[in-house]
Amino acid sequence: MYWLIVILIIVVVVLTVLFWASANIGSNVYLKTICRAKTQQKVVALSFDDAPNAEMTPRVLDVLKAHNVKAMFCLIGQEAERNPELVRRIVEEGHIVANHTYNHSGRFTISGPEQVRAQLERCNDVIYSLIGRKPRIFRPPFGVTNPTIGKVVRGMNFDTIGWTIRSLDTIYGDRVEAMCERVVRKLHPGAIILLHDRCANADRAVAMLIERIQEQGYEIMPLQEMLNMNGYED
Ligand SMILES: [Zn+2]
Repeated sequence: MYWLIVILIIVVVVLTVLFWASANIGSNVYLKTICRAKTQQKVVALSFDDAPNAEMTPRVLDVLKAHNVKAMFCLIGQEAERNPELVRRIVEEGHIVANHTYNHSGRFTISGPEQVRAQLERCNDVIYSLIGRKPRIFRPPFGVTNPTIGKVVRGMNFDTIGWTIRSLDTIYGDRVEAMCERVVRKLHPGAIILLHDRCANADRAVAMLIERIQEQGYEIMPLQEMLNMNGYED
C-alpha cells in the first residue's frame, strides 16, 4: 500500500511537469523559444495573435500609425486568405508578420508530424502569395508545444517567439484600464507583450497601453529589431 502511494505521487509529479512543459511557452523543454530580449535597456515589443481581423485590425493599424509604433502580427493563414488587403497593409506600414498556423485548430496540439508540417507550410504559402516573402517566425497557437511540434518546427528552421507578458486582453474584455494596469505592473526590459487585434476593444486598448508603457519610460521597438533578427526566409 505504501509503495502504491509513492508510485502514484511520482506519476502525478511527472505528469504535472510534462503538462507544465507543454503549456508554458517559456519552458524550452520541447522547443527553444525566445520569449524576451536579453537587455537592460527599457525596451519592449508588441505582438498580436490570431490576425488579421476584418473589423478590428484596420483600427489597430490606425492607432499604431498615429503613435508611430511597429508590432508583430501572428497570422492565421485562413484569415490572411480572407483579408489579403489587410495583410498587405500590415506589411506596407512596417509591421512584421509571423506564422500562427493555417487554421489555428484546437487539434493542432494533438496532430501528427505531417499535419503539423502542413499547417505551417500552408500558412507560409498563403503569406508568400500575398507579400512575396515567407515568415521565419512561428508563434504556437495557445502557446502550447510538444515533442512533435518541436521536431517539425526545428526541421523547418523557424524561430519560435513566445512572450513574457500575457495581456489577457481576451479575458479582460472592455475592462481596458485593468488590462493596461496588469501589463504595466509586469513591464521589464526586453519584454514581449501578447495581445489580440481581434478583441472588440483592441483599438482603445492598444492606444491606452502604448501611452501607459511610454509613461513608464519604455520605448516600444519593432520585435525583429529588439531581437536582432530578420524574420523572413530571404
Ligand atoms: Zn492564437
